[in-house]
Amino acid sequence: MKKTFWRCFVCNDIHYGIRPPEICPTCKVKNAYVEISASEAKIITGAAAEGAYTKEDFLRAIHKFAEGQEFMVNPDRPRLETLFEGVFNNQRNHGLKYCPCRLMTKEFEEDLKIICPCNFLVHETYKGVAKGECWCGMFIKR
Ligand code: SF4
Ligand SMILES: [Zn+2]
Repeated sequence: MKKTFWRCFVCNDIHYGIRPPEICPTCKVKNAYVEISASEAKIITGAAAEGAYTKEDFLRAIHKFAEGQEFMVNPDRPRLETLFEGVFNNQRNHGLKYCPCRLMTKEFEEDLKIICPCNFLVHETYKGVAKGECWCGMFIKR
């Protein structure tokens, strides 16, 4: 089964997956998704996002990501700034916010696993037992 892009024809929400959501999470309309091409999805989302996503937006996003979890965003701001530098450099140079501390394999599908924040609790690099930190220390134990 292959993942593809879907567009809500009521509110233009974009979904990437094997099948579309039954109910659009934004406009709540039922059965509103139609399959579209990757280039169409890129134009729709890129046009809205162009230049708008700042480091502050990313900080807000990762705090939300950590809400209610056993980990939290590292409160060490200088450390965080350094990691953000790496993430945003990767975005500039390689197109996506890849992990600042791990090497990309250059295989697109494989590297999708290390877009930050990653699913680090299941990665071999997770410093779980000893420290509860993600590999780079962007997230630490609460
Ligand atoms: S290990 Fe940490 S810094 Fe690296 S991608 Fe995962 S969450 Fe981000
Ligand atoms: Zn919708």
